[in-house]
Amino acid sequence: MEHTPKEINEFTDTTLQIIWDDGHESIFLYEDLRAICPCASCRRLRKKSRTGKLPFKKKIPLGSQGMSPEKIEFIGNYAIKFVGENWCDTGFYTFDFLRENDSNLE
Ligand SMILES: [Zn+2]
Repeated sequence: MEHTPKEINEFTDTTLQIIWDDGHESIFLYEDLRAICPCASCRRLRKKSRTGKLPFKKKIPLGSQGMSPEKIEFIGNYAIKFVGENWCDTGFYTFDFLRENDSNLE
């Protein structure tokens, strides 16, 4: 693991903020995080869909309450998962994965 979060905050109703040990700040839309859910069944669904995105995305209400998780749980010291109606129980977002998907880091 190259980087670990120093802080994970609910930034707004629709976004999550991660401040990393090197001072970098990531802001993720919950909607985007949901769309890249790393669990096995979502990966399968994405593979099947032509766009590479989850096919059910449009059905999820995108109001402020739509995507924000009820809570965020730590998985050991290497990942987090989101708990809530729209989230997968086995969707473990490792810190490496989150860092890789930060669109501000190229
Ligand atoms: Zn999933």
